[in-house]
Amino acid sequence: MTNNFDANNTDRTPLRCIVCENVIPDAAWFARFKLGDGRVAACSPHCMEKFFDNKRECAAKVGVTLLADPPKTY
Ligand SMILES: [Zn+2]
Repeated sequence: MTNNFDANNTDRTPLRCIVCENVIPDAAWFARFKLGDGRVAACSPHCMEKFFDNKRECAAKVGVTLLADPPKTY
């Protein structure tokens, strides 16, 4: 059985945080956002921050390949 990170389909429980992979009870996610063709959830501000630090690794969990970030110009 694979973990469910699909926040589009709330019928498929339990939904898990894309970052820490903990179950998010009763849709009590901190944020829901688009990733690739789907939608995922983060359980807390802390996980949201970690997501931005490890975007590609997190995206890989749902089979999404992100391109490398462009170099920062600021
Ligand atoms: Zn989390």
